[in-house]
Amino acid sequence: MDQNIQIHDKLFKLFIPSEYIQDEVQSIADKLMVDYADKNPIFLVVLNGAFMFAADLLKHYTDSCDITFTKLSSYVGTTSVGKVTKQMDILINVSNRHVIIVEDIVDTGLTIEALKLNLFELNPASVEICTLLFKPEAFKGTESPKYQGFVIPNKFVLGYGLDYDERGRNLKDLYQLKE
Ligand code: 5GP
Repeated sequence: MDQNIQIHDKLFKLFIPSEYIQDEVQSIADKLMVDYADKNPIFLVVLNGAFMFAADLLKHYTDSCDITFTKLSSYVGTTSVGKVTKQMDILINVSNRHVIIVEDIVDTGLTIEALKLNLFELNPASVEICTLLFKPEAFKGTESPKYQGFVIPNKFVLGYGLDYDERGRNLKDLYQLKE
């Protein structure tokens, strides 16, 4: 397997191979199946980055659930611009429902904080975060995500849904920016 790839002007190295990702996704789904048994949760998938994680995760979540999408953005290139823009409304009634926000990565936490504030106005029964990747060194929020896959260093990553200026989302492995 090629260990390094070039995307636009930057070089990335293989970081987490697909087999490890798949094992982790299965174990997150197993936990969710236990915690949300008989709760018929709503999975709120944050586009675009979480599309691949959500697709794999929800194949393993075999109980009854609803799946919906929202779109937010805070990144330009490889840095967060610090302001979260909502690009798509939540098109499902979340009132009195258990909501699981599905994210590709929690970095500063600004995106999930903004989304949680929006959601709380809609009176959900509960809201939890499920993220494949978590960068604790960059995190500025108060509460770490309840469901987290890999805890990673504060370096830009791509692949498995995550992009660098819209490229690299289709890679099945995760890559990290090579310094
Ligand atoms: P936060 O609001 O937590 O700082 O960032 C969340 C969003 O920023 C993620 O959903 C993702 O779109 C983007 N992001 C944060 N870190 C990275 C990274 O290392 N690589 C990529 N491709 N996107 C990132």
